[in-house]
Amino acid sequence: MLIMEVHLPGGLPDNGRIERRVRFQPMTGRIEQALIESAHNPDRPAYVTDVLSHALKSIGDLPIDRDTVARLTVADRQYLMLRLAAMLNGEQLWLNVQCSHCQSLFDVEVKRSELPVKPAGHGFPHVMIAINDWQIDAGVPTGKDQEGIRGLEEQQAVHWLLRQCVYSVNGQAPTDAFFAQLTEADIAAIDEALDDVSPAVCDRLLVTCPECSCEQCTRLDHYAQLGLDEHFFYDEIHTLASHYHWSEADILDLPQHKRRRYLDLINRSAAGYGRG
Ligand SMILES: [Zn+2]
Repeated sequence: MLIMEVHLPGGLPDNGRIERRVRFQPMTGRIEQALIESAHNPDRPAYVTDVLSHALKSIGDLPIDRDTVARLTVADRQYLMLRLAAMLNGEQLWLNVQCSHCQSLFDVEVKRSELPVKPAGHGFPHVMIAINDWQIDAGVPTGKDQEGIRGLEEQQAVHWLLRQCVYSVNGQAPTDAFFAQLTEADIAAIDEALDDVSPAVCDRLLVTCPECSCEQCTRLDHYAQLGLDEHFFYDEIHTLASHYHWSEADILDLPQHKRRRYLDLINRSAAGYGRG
């Protein structure tokens, strides 16, 4: 059975090493069903943790659980969602864009494999930042940090995230007094230093409206592009069950490519009967 392996642009710190090799589970109907069920989770970072917990097999030698997946950096999680979408739907993606100038709707073709990915910088996931007479040791935010900002106002979220990312100041645990002294400019400097060391997956595209030729930037949401359709999926299960009288469990255990193959055969024989 085909197992897909990818290398993270960042990686998971484990016992002083950075694990970058990730293996996906072989894609079966059962995994797809779990991904479809996860889509009902309205909390986006928790949804991504759910999805990746189902879809991944291992990170380095580490088995997969929710905690391991939550410890990955935000960019690594975006990268894995991008690769998972490619496994499910291929490298080609059609983005529907509304022109910011004339409001026309148009489609843009994107090749997932061609989206630029920036690898992590030196020292990842840590960065040392010198501000005033502080030596600040900070780390790139993870999925767990993102999950923690649920329900917070933007300003509160920034401060909460800052407290997760700053590990030490002059070798000591950071104090409330330290955080209280940080100016907007200090926070921006910490943010910038973290961005420099963090991996990144391109999520902005420069597109041109075919109606008014206006060039503009559009966002690509890596968390919203899995392209799994609940109705379509259960239609497929229903078609196979009706035709072959296999149990739901047996159909769900089929690898995705085999399920598609049988559906193709059913469609072709139906078309054949139609002609006769
Ligand atoms: Zn336009």
